[in-house]
Amino acid sequence: MERTLAIIKPDAVAAKHTGNIIDIIENNDFNIVRMYKTKLSRDQAERFYAIHKGKSFFEELVCMMISGPIIVLALEKDGAIKAWRELMGDTNPANAAPGTIRNLYGISIGSNATHGSDSPATAVQELAFFFPDL
Ligand code: ATP
Ligand code: MG
Repeated sequence: MERTLAIIKPDAVAAKHTGNIIDIIENNDFNIVRMYKTKLSRDQAERFYAIHKGKSFFEELVCMMISGPIIVLALEKDGAIKAWRELMGDTNPANAAPGTIRNLYGISIGSNATHGSDSPATAVQELAFFFPDL
């Protein structure tokens, strides 16, 4: 079975949507392989989102990701990477399909509730970043 990294971002944790988002994850037949709560340092956030370094929104993204605690999850399911991204919905909550997590809980493109790996290679990298034992 495929694995992907999911993050419940600071905006959604602060708004107490953690339980609802985990409900959605379980109702959609993902196995939660690992899960913990943590707070990223600036260095960790900059390394995690290194692919976006140099983009106009990089500083805003890093500031948002270190603004409060996050929940990181290793999720498992057939086709987990695509399935989780579909469940999250479009990056911009304004464009996210009804019922998706970003439609339900996203506030703005910068505060869009969750993260998901975008390819098999990224999933391997991102899972190793938070779950080196996997
Ligand atoms: P994620 O990687 O968080 O799962 P994504 O793959 O849908 O989201 P990316 O293009 O990888 O989107 O962007 C990473 C994150 O950067 C987005 O989730 C969003 O919070 C933020 N971001 C992207 N574009 C903008 C923007 N124009 N302004 C502010 N923040 C942005
Ligand atoms: Mg991305």
